[in-house]
Amino acid sequence: VDSSRTPPYYPSPWQDGTGDWEAAIQQAREFVAKLTLVEKVNLTTGVGWEGDKCVGNTGSIPRLGFRALCMQDSPVGVRDADFSSVFPAGITIAATWDRSLFYQRGHGMGQEHYGKGVDVQLGPVVGPLGRAPAGGRNWEGFSPDPYLSGVAVGETVKGIQDAGVMACTKHYIGYEQEHFRSATQVQENGTTINVDIGSANMDDRTMHELYLWPFADAVRAGTASVMCSYNQVNNSVACQNSYTLNYLLKGELGFQGFVMSDWAGQHSGVSSALAGLDMTMPGDVGFDSGTSFWGANLTIAVLNGTIPQWHLDDMASRIVAGWYYVGRDKNAPDTNFDAWTTDTYGYQHIAANAGYTLINEHVDVRGEHGNQIRNQAAAGTVLLKNNGALPLTGKEKFITVFGNGAGDNTNGPNGCSDRGCDNGTLAMAWGSGSANFPYLVTPLTAIQNEVLSNNGAIENVLDNWATSNINALARRVVNSGGKSAAIVFVNADSGEDYIVVDGNAGDRNNLTLWQGGDQLINNVISQCNNTIVVMHTVGAVDVSGFYDNPNVTAIIWAGIPGEQSGNSIADVLYGRINPGGKLPFTIGEKRLDYGTDLLYLPNNGEGPPQEDFTEGVFIDYRSFDRQNITPIYEFGYGLSYTSFSYSNLQVKVHSTSTYNSNKGFTKPAPTLGTIANTSSAYVFPADFKQIPLFVYPYLNSTDLRAASQDPAYGRPASEFTPSNSLNGSSQAKLPAGGAPGGNPSLYDVIYTVTAHITNTGKVAGDEVIQLYINHGGPDDPKVVLRGFDRITIPAGASRTFTADLVRRDIMNWDTLRQDWAVSRYPKTVYVGASSRKLYLSAKLPTGD
Ligand code: BGC
Ligand code: BGC
Repeated sequence: VDSSRTPPYYPSPWQDGTGDWEAAIQQAREFVAKLTLVEKVNLTTGVGWEGDKCVGNTGSIPRLGFRALCMQDSPVGVRDADFSSVFPAGITIAATWDRSLFYQRGHGMGQEHYGKGVDVQLGPVVGPLGRAPAGGRNWEGFSPDPYLSGVAVGETVKGIQDAGVMACTKHYIGYEQEHFRSATQVQENGTTINVDIGSANMDDRTMHELYLWPFADAVRAGTASVMCSYNQVNNSVACQNSYTLNYLLKGELGFQGFVMSDWAGQHSGVSSALAGLDMTMPGDVGFDSGTSFWGANLTIAVLNGTIPQWHLDDMASRIVAGWYYVGRDKNAPDTNFDAWTTDTYGYQHIAANAGYTLINEHVDVRGEHGNQIRNQAAAGTVLLKNNGALPLTGKEKFITVFGNGAGDNTNGPNGCSDRGCDNGTLAMAWGSGSANFPYLVTPLTAIQNEVLSNNGAIENVLDNWATSNINALARRVVNSGGKSAAIVFVNADSGEDYIVVDGNAGDRNNLTLWQGGDQLINNVISQCNNTIVVMHTVGAVDVSGFYDNPNVTAIIWAGIPGEQSGNSIADVLYGRINPGGKLPFTIGEKRLDYGTDLLYLPNNGEGPPQEDFTEGVFIDYRSFDRQNITPIYEFGYGLSYTSFSYSNLQVKVHSTSTYNSNKGFTKPAPTLGTIANTSSAYVFPADFKQIPLFVYPYLNSTDLRAASQDPAYGRPASEFTPSNSLNGSSQAKLPAGGAPGGNPSLYDVIYTVTAHITNTGKVAGDEVIQLYINHGGPDDPKVVLRGFDRITIPAGASRTFTADLVRRDIMNWDTLRQDWAVSRYPKTVYVGASSRKLYLSAKLPTGD
């Protein structure tokens, strides 16, 4: 199998109403049947960059009171707004390993988007998954482990959508790096070469067992939309890739909602529609180009029969079904903010400076989320090393704080657009995945408050390069005549490619600490034997220079915590919260140890740079295990102020039916209503006042050729539409399909695993108990995560850990049969405290 190519798959599957989507699809179909051609097209096409109040907006259907849909970033809160919260980043909430916190955070973000009048929140993120630690947007997502990411995305989607907002799970798929996410030019040996969009190449098994896995969970949780990514997958652009969109997402995963393009990630009109794209964002070909692949061109394509009406109907129905599915028909608030300015009055259509009106009502949507955020980030804080330095008691004689990572950004918490700088404490990384801070509690502020409340003494040096001041203050810790400590704050940042920070074009150039962090730590530990290092980072960093130094008495990974950063870390430092977070990724000794990396240079001169995922399913801990490399802090690792013991592993086999491959045929595609083809139904109405640059579904002329402005107009559709793409008749179902998330019998519970966990220490604490499986085959990873639970256990008490294993958990993807299968190899289950602390194990009895 050539994994740089995948087979085409047509026609694009239409909604079949499986799962709990039936009612929403019924309502959507009734609504769409009432629409005219241009009204249908208007649902699918954005009005253009900065064409309306949100980062993405569709047209409206005033005749039926259906307002323009508002799409707004981000995965940490409402982007570009005021009086809204900044939640911890995905990677930090993942480190809590707490299902209820995944949900709580999702629900909080959903409520805030709801309150601002957002229809679609552009999050959560499970692509990138985190194939390589330097990937610029890994922090927006959860974890390079697909199981942990899958649980997190499912709970987040439910949380967002229970608040009445559509989630948009993104970016689908293979979007593991920022470099080459769009076509570019590079200089090589003095000549300019054109470099096409990079292609993520992966084999079928890797696709299913790794990258597609969490998307299956998002679809199963009911995500109303999915955003296709910028990159190519196996050399076909992700937003017009019939294999990933038609076959995998809408076919196999039974996705009933709509596919939205990433911003300017659409590269064709008819082809993208037939390959499974349902909505183009922001709608214009290039930002503010005033042209669109869809809009009027989609109207023409349907009028002249290039795209069958049933397909446009399905695109429109998918969008409206999502809207009903989350209950947006029930008095959802109007959009009451503007993404492009915080001024109260301004232009609603800012690209054209048109429509001066009230655009920002400054609605405070935060509710009680501040306290939740404080707790979420504290719960996601990971204690990596502790030689008795922590928790602090509050009775320390002298507390010192070092590093610009502890203090304010001198330009204000929102001083850099989209957080595109590393200035002051790092509580959010950069790009569209950002939001404006309503306040940012810095570590210095919180620690100072703490010290003052205890009548202690505190000093700080925030300039990382003030070596003599740093040395002098660090020395005074040792010479304070009492128990004292130095706390050093360091960070590492990354983000999206449209902003370059310190030479990092989204992706990190290296894994070292930023702002001279290593030097800063060295300067402190050269003088002070009680140094606590706190790292705010977007992922793994190189800690090899200091982690085992005896003067470093504690190390904390505090992630990307959001607005309450200082309070969250103070809660952990002072032991009000006993740390229970565990690393959602591996911290290795060397960058090379990961066995995966990004592609920074075009590797083939011209055309799409080839990003070959030759490591297959072996990323992060699976790679370390395979190579037999001992990491410094393994996946799943984290300490507590107490200790736990594990005993009594039990496996119960459930008697259940065997796996049923999905069989049979779909119904034919329904056609919804009749489209009038009289010219009055699709040319601009006579008195229509156009907003410049705004993308409309109407034509300028009754002559389709003239309206298209396409010199090649008139080519027979058979010359450029893939075979079978226009076929709306009944189609064979896919074996692994059958419901949102895939074949329902993948989710039958096969085993229940239990174990006893005892808190053997002196304080109550949370333990994240982890379940791993070895699938037994020669090509299988040593272990893969397949269960976890975070349990609070009082000192001296025991609790029972319980995990259900479903059929998918023990299966492998069978490339030949295109279905999941339980391999013949004997399987082992492990329960432990990390991917390498596998305290208990048992053979899994053969179930069937
Ligand atoms: C990003 C998306 C984002 C969109 C809208 C794109 O550049 O990749 O994640 O939702 O812009 O801001
Ligand atoms: C916008 C982002 C968008 C990006 C696309 C930026 O200018 O602020 O929303 O994701 O362009 O590359």
